[in-house]
Amino acid sequence: MSIRIRSIEARTVDHPVRSDGAIISSLGRHEASHYATVVVTDADGATGFGEATTAPVWSGETAETARWIIEEFLAPKLVGATFHDPAEALALMDGALHANGFAKAAIDVALWDLVARKRGASVSSLIADREPRAWIPSRVSIGVYPPEETVRLAREFHARGVRTLKFKTGKPGLDDVARLRAVREALGPDPIFTIDANGAYPTADAAVRAVEELLPFDLALVEQPTPRDRIGMLAEVRRRTPVPILVDEAVFTPGHLEQAIEQDAFDVLSIYPGKNGGFTHSLAMARRAQAAGKCCAIGSNLETDLGQAAMICLASSLSAFPTEKYACDLMAALFYDRSATAPPIRWRDGGVEAPTGSGFGVVPAEGPYRD
Ligand SMILES: [Mg+2]
Repeated sequence: MSIRIRSIEARTVDHPVRSDGAIISSLGRHEASHYATVVVTDADGATGFGEATTAPVWSGETAETARWIIEEFLAPKLVGATFHDPAEALALMDGALHANGFAKAAIDVALWDLVARKRGASVSSLIADREPRAWIPSRVSIGVYPPEETVRLAREFHARGVRTLKFKTGKPGLDDVARLRAVREALGPDPIFTIDANGAYPTADAAVRAVEELLPFDLALVEQPTPRDRIGMLAEVRRRTPVPILVDEAVFTPGHLEQAIEQDAFDVLSIYPGKNGGFTHSLAMARRAQAAGKCCAIGSNLETDLGQAAMICLASSLSAFPTEKYACDLMAALFYDRSATAPPIRWRDGGVEAPTGSGFGVVPAEGPYRD
């Protein structure tokens, strides 16, 4: 089935996000979710939807730059062209534009959505290598707050059914040992603890020391302890610590992944379409990591339900994601009062239900769209 693209539209949207318990990491505070929503329409009138989940500190993109890139730079190259597969359109985008992964991903996700909708199929049915999981457990981020506030948030999320807590760590002046100890004392052995330093430890020694101090509180994963452009340093930390390493900032692209595999720098790959510059790339990277003996978990830039739908599809459909062992960053329900999609993605028992229906199973709530 071919797609001839008739139009690509992007609009910027503010999604009100909770300020109480806002995610604060070593990179800063997630104050606002100002993203771009993308609608792709083909010559037959079929539509697909995507979200550019932009944060300048993360990928160098804002909603405005993404919108401009999409409408003024990429759309003129894609509109009127015919593709047999979203991968062809993504190759054209990658050939024309370096980086800007979240902008490209919004179009690529919309194309997957459109292709599946035209077939009356779910994207999951096009990619699954196992019986898709109907429910995915969520891992929820707790910002770098003092111990008392850290415990309050941990209690709130645990009461919502969340078993895997991801503590942001590495902010100077805050005692991570006291924070994790306080939560273990308050909640006992049940919650699974993971930490995410967002690259805060400047050397392998500093990272190893920080992890060793937290070992008494039973860590299941250590996420990106070292700076994003230092894959060799991450590999050294992995050799020197007993806790599995989850690579996040150090692997955005398929090329980064090859380097990380060569250096055996990680155990678990954090993956999601925006970071990878396309659903197509996420799919290939998940398969590549699995072939190298690694596994995957979904990471996040605090997507709304629109962005999450494609992430859930990957986690649900692919055996590279052992979701029973490693929960995924699918936490929109705990940070947004209102869903960005119709239907909303349902939160249940500390996780999310995989949307059913054609495409990724959701459409933007604010538009005149029908699922
Ligand atoms: Mg991370």
